[in-house]
Amino acid sequence: MTMPRLATYAVLAWLLYLPSPLVFSQWLSDSQGIMGTNIHVELWSDDEKQGKAAIAAVMAEMERINQLMSPYIASSELAILNAQAASQPVSVSTELYELIALSIELSKETGGAFDITFASVGYLYDYRAKQKPSDEQVAELLSAIDFKHLQLNPAAHSIFFSHPKVKIDLGGIAKGHAVDNAVTILQRLGIQHALVTAGGDTRLLGDRMGKPWMVGIRDPRHADKQAVLLPLSDTAISTSGDYERYFEQDGERYHHILSPKSGKSIHEVQSVSIIGPRSTLNDALSTAIFVLGVQGGIDLLNRTPGYDGIIMDSQRKMHYSQGLTP
Ligand code: ADP
Ligand code: MG
Repeated sequence: MTMPRLATYAVLAWLLYLPSPLVFSQWLSDSQGIMGTNIHVELWSDDEKQGKAAIAAVMAEMERINQLMSPYIASSELAILNAQAASQPVSVSTELYELIALSIELSKETGGAFDITFASVGYLYDYRAKQKPSDEQVAELLSAIDFKHLQLNPAAHSIFFSHPKVKIDLGGIAKGHAVDNAVTILQRLGIQHALVTAGGDTRLLGDRMGKPWMVGIRDPRHADKQAVLLPLSDTAISTSGDYERYFEQDGERYHHILSPKSGKSIHEVQSVSIIGPRSTLNDALSTAIFVLGVQGGIDLLNRTPGYDGIIMDSQRKMHYSQGLTP
């Protein structure tokens, strides 16, 4: 038997060749519930302590953004803005100002499908408590949904709501923003291979050590099944689905993506996944295209360089933008 011997020599040679002290590179991962969703981080590190510190830095960033942008935390900048901006202009941090300014840009580019003032009606939905606004409430508040009510003053970084009933919510873009920030932090810490996920928003730094990351798109009607599995590296993907937050009443599904035109949930599609370099844009585009539907959504993607998407319609048929069509 010469084989085991050869193998032994090979191992010895490899051990001698290694620089001293021995370096143990490894995958590290953690999951935590933050921002009302599951945050998952995986990264490759040659130093366990530094790797764990990098994961902790990502979790801290998620919590920082939660404290800044959650509508449920009374002291958040967003909650203060909602409470005061209809009475007087409110100055906000550069970060919140710029995310709101970007949201307004995206409202213009999506023909109003993405609109953070959806919350003027949206705040009356409580999906856990199975509560929705009455038709009278929707009719009364519908005129408050319009991004044109948001008046931005770039010099003062202030925002004024020109309609008394406006409320905003960044639920369609803040998680993508948080994921982009997290990846920037990891890059600064020297991490080269990582996956960061916040709910439906995932960004990949590098590959999975010579192999692509395999990212699944969930089957909208079966939590444990995947509709599509995609090999991806150094990019990002966001999925919006009608299954994340919803309740059913009288045979109707009330879910968390609302048409700014009707103040009600949309039923043309079940899920939208967007692939592109920036999580912030993937996040907002997946929500917008959910509202736009198949034709409007594919048209928007086909004129947006760098961004592609997969839409599953209400009949569970898949539609692909040009960049993904074989
Ligand atoms: P999630 O990852 O929470 O599923 P999505 O990216 O699918 O988020 O976006 C859904 C969230 O976007 C909703 O929970 C709500 O906060 C917000 N939203 C709903 N409708 C709109 C809309 N028309 N424009 C902008 N944001 C919206
Ligand atoms: Mg989104």
